[in-house]
Amino acid sequence: MMMIEICLFFFLHTGLVESRVEEELNALLARGNSHREVLENSYTPETLHHIALMEKKAATEVIITDSKQNIIISSSKIDKEEKKIVSKKIKNVPRDGEILEKQWRKEKYISTISPYSVNRQQNGYVYMFKNTDHVQSLISSLTRHFLFAAAITIILLIITILFLSKALTTPLIQMKRATEKLSKGDFSVQLPDRGDDELGELSRSITVLAQDLKHLKEERNEFLSSISHELRTPLTYIKGYADVARRKDIEEKDRDHYLNIIYEESDKLSAMMKDLFDLAKIDRNAFIINRTKVQLCSYVKTIHEKMLPAFKEKEMQLEIECNENIHGLIDPIRFEQVFFNLLDNAIKYSDPYTKTRIFVKEKDGDVLIKVEDEGHGIPEEDLPFIFERLYRVDKSRSRDLGGTGLGLSIVKELIEAHQGRIEVKSELGKGSTFLIWIKEAAE
Ligand code: ADP
Repeated sequence: MMMIEICLFFFLHTGLVESRVEEELNALLARGNSHREVLENSYTPETLHHIALMEKKAATEVIITDSKQNIIISSSKIDKEEKKIVSKKIKNVPRDGEILEKQWRKEKYISTISPYSVNRQQNGYVYMFKNTDHVQSLISSLTRHFLFAAAITIILLIITILFLSKALTTPLIQMKRATEKLSKGDFSVQLPDRGDDELGELSRSITVLAQDLKHLKEERNEFLSSISHELRTPLTYIKGYADVARRKDIEEKDRDHYLNIIYEESDKLSAMMKDLFDLAKIDRNAFIINRTKVQLCSYVKTIHEKMLPAFKEKEMQLEIECNENIHGLIDPIRFEQVFFNLLDNAIKYSDPYTKTRIFVKEKDGDVLIKVEDEGHGIPEEDLPFIFERLYRVDKSRSRDLGGTGLGLSIVKELIEAHQGRIEVKSELGKGSTFLIWIKEAAE
């Protein structure tokens, strides 16, 4: 900006000086031409004398010569410089005159010449002179004004730049400090609201990031404490029963019973470990989902076949209702786990002789899969949380049934990895319905 200002001032100054000098030269030439007019009207000694007298009083000087450049009259004493100009060889001077000397910086005079012609004998030249001291003092006062204006502009520019850079850097420094705090694990970051510009957006993003990180940290701590709690129960059982089974004075039958309990508890532990491992894999995005076009009806039929024995064992029914033409974009291997977890829950949380149905429908360009049971249902207050990790409605009952509290969170993560979504509707004592939306495969 400073460079631009300096260039602008320079060009403006040069332009003004040139036009001012041009004006002076034109005025001088016009004055010479007007003397010429007077001379041509009445060429008398009185007129010559009168012109010289007029110029004596003015800031300009005049020298009138004949056609051979011999001086007839002058308004003041002729000095060396004037003599030099008058003795310069001239040729074909136009009637409107011309500028003889315009070097106002170097020379003592600027000067013009206007030819006059009265008759054959009486013609010659009117030389006009103006001392360049006058022009120079005009220009130097102009330069002084310019320098003053430039100095004020530069001071204002410096103040503005300082103010602007402070206004820009202060929030950036605050944000830098905030991110340093974040990286040290301190999430209590508060940045002032800075409006709707880019800095404001950045500052809001950092505040949101801090809140998200805080939430994540709390969630992780909560998850770790729930995990350790979950692991403690089966481990306490295992330890307790192993202690009793070790004793020599117990009967073989009781030892078998205790060993069975130990076996069951370790089974639950390893099921939980598997679920946790799956979740960790989905979280790390180490889970590759290979979505392909799958004919959903026949796919659900194979699931039906696989799960039917488990339903029969509990005297329950499993039915499917689907349209042959529906194709979904799914990873058939991963999606099996979704059905397995939902149907396993339907078995766990329903009474014998009830029915579970799977519907596959097309809805608004998406595929809707419904898994509907006639089980115990889920209390309304628990519905928002059942997809959370380790959340169980009835802890001891779910544990006894072999639940880990991770099944539905795995289902949700898997469906989200398929870019789908899941919802639940449930009525206590009547049953639950899980609704899954996934993308329909194009024809
Ligand atoms: P769990 O391993 O305990 O079954 P889930 O994550 O699969 O864990 O389910 C979370 C909780 O939601 C369960 O503890 C259970 O109380 C409830 N739930 C899930 N599915 C059903 C269902 N079909 N009917 C009734 N309750 C259900």
